[in-house]
Order: sequence, then structure tokens, then C-alpha cells
Amino acid sequence: MLLKVPAEPVPIQEISIDRKVKLFIKREDLIHPQISGNKYWKLFYNINHYLEQNPEKPYMITFGGAFSNHIAAVAAAGNAAGIQTLGIIRGEELQHKWRDNPTLLFAKRNGMNLKFVTREEYRHKQKLTEFLRHEFPEALIIPEGGTNKEAVEGVKMMLNEQTKDFDYLCTAVGTGGTIAGISKFCEEYQKVIGLKAVDDDSLENKIFELTSKHNFNLIDSGFGGYGKIKDENIRFINDFKEKYGIPLEPVYTGKMMQKVFELIDEGFFPEDSRILCFHTGGLQGIEGANLLLEKQNRNLII
Ligand SMILES: *Cc1c(COP(=O)(O)O)cnc(C)c1O
Repeated sequence: MLLKVPAEPVPIQEISIDRKVKLFIKREDLIHPQISGNKYWKLFYNINHYLEQNPEKPYMITFGGAFSNHIAAVAAAGNAAGIQTLGIIRGEELQHKWRDNPTLLFAKRNGMNLKFVTREEYRHKQKLTEFLRHEFPEALIIPEGGTNKEAVEGVKMMLNEQTKDFDYLCTAVGTGGTIAGISKFCEEYQKVIGLKAVDDDSLENKIFELTSKHNFNLIDSGFGGYGKIKDENIRFINDFKEKYGIPLEPVYTGKMMQKVFELIDEGFFPEDSRILCFHTGGLQGIEGANLLLEKQNRNLII
């Protein structure tokens, strides 16, 4: 079964703030109940093109950490599309305790086979990929985080007539596929702001391999490194949900949104700017984050 383009576009909601700019959020997190946000579109052409080639026993392999939104999305997409999936998971120690991890449990329940590898083996993903290509010549192998050319093409689906009505398009950045797609397919007059969830100095060059446009800026979202959760960000996420009724998660969208609020307060955006933030989903990660926070006796994400 191919992945579908939903009949109705996801909503764009205004975030009312008492400032001289207008702020909106596009709810890509609502695109599919299990395959959330940007991951749906990043997988869209990868899966559909693969299935159109009619493999006899469709098989999809990918890589990720224990809390990875990409792993959850690939498992759910495999389930929805009728493709058997294999997830190569970083951390051998999870072998016997994956049931305690909500992301891995979700992946397993969606039919994904999990193979746990040491951090050392995981670091050599290229070698692992070559081995897998040899073992499973018919399989669709998707890189960690899901970024490749087809993923970038899929991100075009996040843009439509309505998104043309904004001066700034903001997104959280992990591997850079999403911002590359937005940069590549947005209008000439639009500026793209990427809020980095990872400290990776090579990110800009990686993005330039996927888009030739220079219409984007990368800004550090500044709330600790990848996957680090600060209490002030938890407070922000909880306040945001109470005030606007929109959930955010602590790895990408929570950091993006808090940083955008800061940028607005610093006067980064000219008066009367219309700013659109993409809610790239990933809400499945809240449960796992709360388990960690609970162990540390900290406030939880509501
Ligand atoms: C994966 C992910 C991102 C980052 O997307 P990239 O294309 O890897 O930059 C942003 N937000 C959420 C919620 C994600 O799961």
C-alpha cells in the first residue's frame, strides 16, 4: 500500500503573541496518527518509489538511537505500507531492556525487528550499510534520520498555497533534510530559519549538498546539546501547551519554539513579519523523555 497525500491540508494556527510580528504554526504533527510530522514526508517518496518497483518481499532497513522519532516513523510506515522493517539500534545494552523504552516498544508493536549493535559498530554505519546491502540486495535502506534526495523531494509537500503567505519559514534541524527541502521549494521572497537541535559544524555543508539556494540561516537553538533537556525548556513547553493547546516535545519543536520566541523578543524579525513555524511532530518522544526526567526527580512534560 502506498502512502497517501491526505485530502485535507493540515491546519495553520495563529499563536497570538503581543508583539509587532505575526506568528503561526503548521501542524505537520497531525499528518498521520502514527507517522508523525516531517518523517511522513521524508519517507513518502522513498517508500512509494520502492513499492512501485514491486519488490516481492518488501523490506526496509534503517538506523537510530533508542528514542529516535525516525525509528518510530519507519516502523509505523512499514506497518501502514505492508513492508517488513528492521531497525539497527545504537546500544547493545538495550538488548534485554528494550521493553522499558516506549519508542522501541512502539517500533516492535508495529512489527519492526530490532538489532542492537555496540556504539562502536554503530559509528561505522557506512560499513554496516554495505554489509546490509550485500545481505539484503532487494531492501530499501534508509540512512539514520531519513535524509536523502527523495526525502528532500517529499518535504515539498509541506509547502502549499497557504505557506506562500509568510515571510519567514522556521523549522527545527537535525540531519538537515527538512530545511533543505523547505529551502529548495519555497518562494524567492521567503527566508528560511533553521533552529539547530544538534551541534554539528558540518551541517551547513550537508544542507548545501541537498539545496543550492542560500536562502537559509542556521541558528543554534541553544538549550543544551542534542537530546539534552533543560528545566526552562520544560517550563516553556508546558506553558505553551496550556496557553495554546499545542503539545511540543523537548528534542526539536520545544527548543525551536522557545528560540523563535527569544528571536522575536530580540527584534530579529522586522516589524510586521509573518512567521510560520513547522510543527515537525515527534510527540512520541515525550513518554521516553518523561521516564528519564522522572528518574532524575525533575518536573515532567505535561
Ligand atoms: C527528525 C526531526 C526533525 C529534524 O529533521 P531533519 O530533516 O533531520 O533535519 C525535526 N523535528 C522533529 C520532530 C523530528 O523528528
